[in-house]
This record gives sequence, structure tokens and C-alpha cells, in this order.
Amino acid sequence: MVSSLIDPVTRWWKAETIRALFFPFEANVILKIPLCHNLLEDKLIWMGNKRGDFTVKSAYFIASKILNTMEDGECSSGDPMARIWKKVWSLKLPTKIKIFSWHACVNGLPVLSKLAEKGIQTSCICPICDEEPESLTHALISCDLALLIWSLWQDCPIEKLLNVKDFSDLVLHICSPLLDKHLDFFFAIAWSIWHNRNKIIHNESGLPPGLIWDFAKNIVEEFEEASTWDYTPLLSPLHSWATPPLGFAKVNVDGACSIDGSGISGVGVIIRDESGGVIAALSKALPSHFPAEWTEFIALEQGILLAQELNLTHVIFESNASSVISAVSQGKNGGSMGHFVQSIRSASSYFFCCLF
Ligand SMILES: [Zn+2]
Repeated sequence: MVSSLIDPVTRWWKAETIRALFFPFEANVILKIPLCHNLLEDKLIWMGNKRGDFTVKSAYFIASKILNTMEDGECSSGDPMARIWKKVWSLKLPTKIKIFSWHACVNGLPVLSKLAEKGIQTSCICPICDEEPESLTHALISCDLALLIWSLWQDCPIEKLLNVKDFSDLVLHICSPLLDKHLDFFFAIAWSIWHNRNKIIHNESGLPPGLIWDFAKNIVEEFEEASTWDYTPLLSPLHSWATPPLGFAKVNVDGACSIDGSGISGVGVIIRDESGGVIAALSKALPSHFPAEWTEFIALEQGILLAQELNLTHVIFESNASSVISAVSQGKNGGSMGHFVQSIRSASSYFFCCLF
């Protein structure tokens, strides 16, 4: 039963049990699923858009993507590298990673064997494993540490990786219609391996394989989140904060996460009375890294729980994430954070008067 994996006191996943029962990549996926305080009934949701509501437009978008994939498969004639360029420049990744990907595909990264050829570097031995010359393929794919990272990827074409002779051959393989949905992940992982290798070259400490993998995964998720989420600030800057009306308390909440997708996320809550005096405050580190919007939902739920604990009856909730306030106000509980919307709305009925 899934409920046996959830701690009834902390209302969060039993991390140790999950890590003991599942493969590392499965455990990582499970531990990234945020749990709301009120554990709700399971339900089916539509993942075609952020709201979780089925619309013809979102279905059309998905159908177009499928058709595009099929068309790509049909036009396999012509220059295969042209096909790679097109794919690389349309990656859903930050520009710096697209540029890295392009350099990698043309064997243009400054690996040590290349620098040694030009007489810039004396040793061409890989600084990670200290065993083989550092070619581009070795640095990104076949070095021991790189292989450990690739092995954490569930959809990894591992047999291909083990026999790879040339990086661009591998990219061509992944550009095939069946695999090209993984291209973003593929290049995010390759970039994270390269980024870690550069840290080691510059005498900084490198990260363990699990963290490098998380780093890559977060880059993909954060970019997707940032490009689809309408993050319109609801409030003007903090100095315009106004005291709540007589008899009300105001609860300000905020969530935060690092931009590069590493580390953990956190939430903060502050509750003030009608004269602006602080009644209570809370700050909490979350058990994992979550996208920005998710932290805002979790912060709002924490604000409600704290207000409940203080037995407040007339409360105003403020967040700088207008999409979160709007989702809660309008009861948009179909998306990936719909269980939080449901939990927040249900908890808000506890108050005599509750405004968002
Ligand atoms: Zn190596």
C-alpha cells in the first residue's frame, strides 16, 4: 500500500523505506512527489496543460507534437548532421547548454587530448579516472564516473553507450523518432557531466553521481516549468505591504528554490495583526528540491496550517505567486499540484472568514 510509505507524523515520504525498496531512479522520482497535509483520495488528472483541465487546444497541441515526430521520421534523407543541428537548436534547455551541445557534436570541446595535440597541455590523461586519455567521448560517456551517472537514467540506451566510438554517432542514434523525446535529458546529463569535470579541473570538489544526475534532471524540469508557468507578481514590492483590516490577521507566504536546480527548496510564513505586529513566523527547509511554483503551493499550505494552529478566525492570505492564488481561489484542482489546491481549500473552511 502506498500509505505504508508515508510517515503519519511528518506527512511526508519515509525516505529510508523508499530507498530500501526501490531502485535509485525510482526512489528519486517518488521522493520528488510533494505530499499535501491532508492526504486526499487518488484521482485521474489530465497532464496536457498546467490546470489539469481537458481542452481541445491542449489535445490539438499534443496531436501536433506526435505528427511532427512522425514527419521527422519520414524526412531521414539528406544530411544527417543538418537533422542534428535542427534538433540541438530546438532543445528545451538554457542557451548555454545548446551551445555546449553544438560544440560537443562538432568535437569542439577543449578535452585534454585535443589540447595536448595542440601543444597547450602536456598530459592528456583523464583527470577524473586517471586511467585513459581524455577524448570527448571518454569525458562525456565512457569515463567510469560518467557511466555511473548515465546508469541512473531509466531510459538510457546503455548498450549503445557502452559501444560508442563517436559522440555524434550516439547523438544521431538518439535523434531517431523513437528516442528523440529524450534529447533534452541526454544533453542536460552530458552538460552536467562536463560541468562537474570542469569543477574538478579547476581544483574544486566534484559532486557524487546521484547529485549530478539530480542536477541534470532539475535543469530540464526547471526550464520546462519556467517556460510554461505564468509567474506574474501579484503584489508590488514589500514596502507597499498594508496592515489587514480591524479584526483580521494577514498571513504572507513565500517559497524559494535555487535557480540552477541544485540543493533544496524552502518555505517561509509570517503572520501579522491589524497593527502590523508579528504574531508568528515559520521557515522550513523542504526534503527535496522542488520547482518554484510548487514551493509557493507548499508555502501557502504551511501558512494555513500555522494560522489554524493559532486558532485565528479572520485571516487574509497573501503570496507573490498570482497563479497559485488564482488556482486556489478558482478551485483549479486538476493539475499536478491539484491535490494541494484541494487540501488548501478544504483547510480554509476551518476559518470563520478567509480571503486569498
Ligand atoms: Zn576518465
